[in-house]
Amino acid sequence: MKVQDTQISEENEVQIAIELRDLVKSFGGVAAVNGVSLSIPQGTFYGIIGPNGSGKTTLVDCISGIVRDYQGSVLFDGTDITGWPIHKISQLGLLRTFQTSRLFGPMSTLSNVMIAAPDQAGEKFFQAVFGRWRAAQEGPLAKARELLASYGLSGREDAYAAELSGGQRRLLELARLSIMHPRAVLLDEPFAGVSPVQRAQLTRRLRGLKDDGITVVMIEHRLELVEQLCDRIGVMAEGKIIAEGCMDDLRTDKDVLSAYLGSVGHDEARM
Ligand code: ADP
Ligand code: MG
Repeated sequence: MKVQDTQISEENEVQIAIELRDLVKSFGGVAAVNGVSLSIPQGTFYGIIGPNGSGKTTLVDCISGIVRDYQGSVLFDGTDITGWPIHKISQLGLLRTFQTSRLFGPMSTLSNVMIAAPDQAGEKFFQAVFGRWRAAQEGPLAKARELLASYGLSGREDAYAAELSGGQRRLLELARLSIMHPRAVLLDEPFAGVSPVQRAQLTRRLRGLKDDGITVVMIEHRLELVEQLCDRIGVMAEGKIIAEGCMDDLRTDKDVLSAYLGSVGHDEARM
């Protein structure tokens, strides 16, 4: 029996993509993140839910290097990235989107994706921006077009990003992320401003990320979307992860219920 146990545990050995140890980030006297420890296995679609102001965005800011003056440590695929700046973290393949979209408004939809493609340095960068394509660009160009089509944006290639609807901007942001071949993505409310029709498309694309083996961490309010997409969910309240599990586990968790009723206290909080 013992031998069999060992074989099973070796086969099931999981690699941890994102690991947080005792993360604390305060603004003035207020701890926005107040002692978070978390292990997210590679390939997991991990949801973060919790009331407004519970520290979800700050947590993702720490992981992605937007906020660097926190206590505790952050590891990505086994590398200690504590305090690293966002550009260095991006180079390891850990990418993020923001709660409000950040695109180059005065550039076309296609150019927004093209400039994110790897190996677009120097002269190539300007060719991409100004649309003077050479043979060398055909690879990334075809890839960008294919990607835009898969995100339902092929008819909008030449539109300025600023002209797109809120939902189209969200889809464009994800297309831009995808061309960078991420190993993990952090998405801060990716469904904000997305219409019901586009919601289905976005849901499909997010599932596609997971199918490609990419680890996804998604902050989202709407529990039905979280339930559809996430393998595992962490509930934040007052800077702490107060519960973790699948949606079925959480539905009956009294700490979670009280957090959503706004009455959870630190004494009740558990990791
Ligand atoms: P969530 O994303 O869960 O709504 P946030 O991480 O945005 O929560 O915020 C958590 C807490 O930290 C809130 O009380 C918020 O006011 C505070 N906070 C976030 N960012 C800043 C900042 N740059 N300066 C001061 N306080 C901040
Ligand atoms: Mg937020």
